[in-house]
Amino acid sequence: NLSDKLDKAFHILKGHGKITEVNVAETLKEVRRALLDADVNFKIAKDFTTKVKEKAIGQDVLTTLQPGQLLVKLVKDELTELMGGDVAGINLSGNPSIILMSGLQGSGKTTFSGKLANYLLTKKNKKPLLVACDIYRPAAIQQLYVVGDSIGVEVYSEPENKNPVEIAQNAIKHAKANGFNVVIVDTAGRLAVDEEMMNEIERVHKAIQPNETLFVVDAMTGQDAVNTAKAFNDRLNFDGVILTKLDGDTRGGAAISIKSVVNKPIKFVGTGEKMDAIDVFYPIRMAERILGMGDVVSLVERAQEQFDEQEARKIQKKIAKNEFGFDDFLSQIQQVKKMGNMKDLVGMIPGASKAMKDVEIEDDAFKHIEAIIHSMTPIERSKPALIDVKRKARIAKGSGTKIEQVNQLMKQFDQMSKMMKMMQGPGGKNLMKMMGG
Ligand code: GDP
Ligand code: MG
Repeated sequence: NLSDKLDKAFHILKGHGKITEVNVAETLKEVRRALLDADVNFKIAKDFTTKVKEKAIGQDVLTTLQPGQLLVKLVKDELTELMGGDVAGINLSGNPSIILMSGLQGSGKTTFSGKLANYLLTKKNKKPLLVACDIYRPAAIQQLYVVGDSIGVEVYSEPENKNPVEIAQNAIKHAKANGFNVVIVDTAGRLAVDEEMMNEIERVHKAIQPNETLFVVDAMTGQDAVNTAKAFNDRLNFDGVILTKLDGDTRGGAAISIKSVVNKPIKFVGTGEKMDAIDVFYPIRMAERILGMGDVVSLVERAQEQFDEQEARKIQKKIAKNEFGFDDFLSQIQQVKKMGNMKDLVGMIPGASKAMKDVEIEDDAFKHIEAIIHSMTPIERSKPALIDVKRKARIAKGSGTKIEQVNQLMKQFDQMSKMMKMMQGPGGKNLMKMMGG
């Protein structure tokens, strides 16, 4: 699944202090796949990853950030930007402010008209009027009445009138005469874009000059949504997009594609059939949703937890001051044991495998090492140089090991200290970084 794929991609990155072309390409391939999975148009996904790649390459990784996290941030920021960056408000100027709904049949216009009326009534202290301009189906007018009743908002309709332009104009007169300050005009849609429908909505649009023309689109329609949006935008030059049915398992990639193609902000999203299932559209949240960011973020956190950052920093300081002792060695061993295979880790440090070549690193070796260190006195642990032959014999006896094993540990410790020092230099920072330092 996606999070596994990103896990793998980000794992590759974690070993590197600098984001390189190769590991960025690897990761962005996964990001692109995620976008395509989310129904983002191929060209848009490609352009997007190219842009992020350019930004990422050569950028130094801040000491407090993992490279993977930085890339996640770049991707998220860029996606957010792509979807408009900031929250786009709805234009409520005009008295009354006139809002026109457009979109295909079944996209959710009637439902959203009700949701918006309810939102403006309860959250913005407005007095909205709903207008039924879907003249083709009596059931459509009835549907709007049901919606209006459920939220306590008046519905204006003229069931005998077959001219939506007139109905809309009369409704605005009615609103002015009766103190309504918002007029929401619900219109008829067709199953696909056709001339008749387009002409009709265009006529209504011209006649009532809305303050806000909204294009309503079902997020689950994916790629088709883009073409539909374009067709409506060509005729209406609408002001904003409403993305409905985001409560389904859609990832919402349509949001990116639509924004890229018509360059109009997404203003609200619909997240259910009930009247309160409406949300202001937050580009950043959509970016997170598209990337499955929840997964990625927790993943990065998990990787970080494996090494206690503070501990790693403390040890780095000690190494720098030549104060690295057996207690630290012990805690390093415990950290390494938490993380898994030591040989794999060492193998990632350039030059380290050579330095460690005659040192046996076996997991069960840790048992003896721990026993030996536990038999040392605190002074011996912090100043290993004190450990002479006499002390070695005592330690071996106390830990139930042989003096050769103590010798071997001393040698191992020596190598480890050297390696730690080496990691402070260029090319050696990787392991420390991985350790959260
Ligand atoms: P219209 O033809 O554009 O007016 O679309 P409707 O408002 O009649 O909605 C069509 C169907 O989609 C109805 O069954 C609605 O209940 C449903 N619907 C609308 N918005 C949402 C939404 O955000 N989530 C879900 N799950 N269903 C929705
Ligand atoms: Mg309808």
